[in-house]
Amino acid sequence: MSAGKIIGYIFAGIAILFGVLFLIAAFDGRPVAQAISNFIIAAVLIGIGVVIIIAIKMREPKPKQEIIQKIDVSGDIAMERLKCKNCGALLDKDSIKLAEGAIIISCPYCGTTYQMVEEPKW
Ligand SMILES: [Zn+2]
Repeated sequence: MSAGKIIGYIFAGIAILFGVLFLIAAFDGRPVAQAISNFIIAAVLIGIGVVIIIAIKMREPKPKQEIIQKIDVSGDIAMERLKCKNCGALLDKDSIKLAEGAIIISCPYCGTTYQMVEEPKW
């Protein structure tokens, strides 16, 4: 969670908290005019809090797909044994990409790019 988001949630929380306090204060037997103005302040504060939370939620990125792809290909031990078909150089995780469900190997040493067809033997 980023610092901006945390600050946003804190502001939203404070706004809603004060809104609730104003709402409770509206019922403590004060004159009707004051109770109504308390209601309005409470509504505005809670509204601000809710809007801040919605704004934070809407701005959240959705990196799910990328995370799944990274999990699928990783496994440090397995990757250490993977060699380039062309030059035999050891390939690291950065050389392996998932594109449309296929595993694409791009060798950083000889520049070869190919699709991994057979299951690696490990
Ligand atoms: Zn190579």
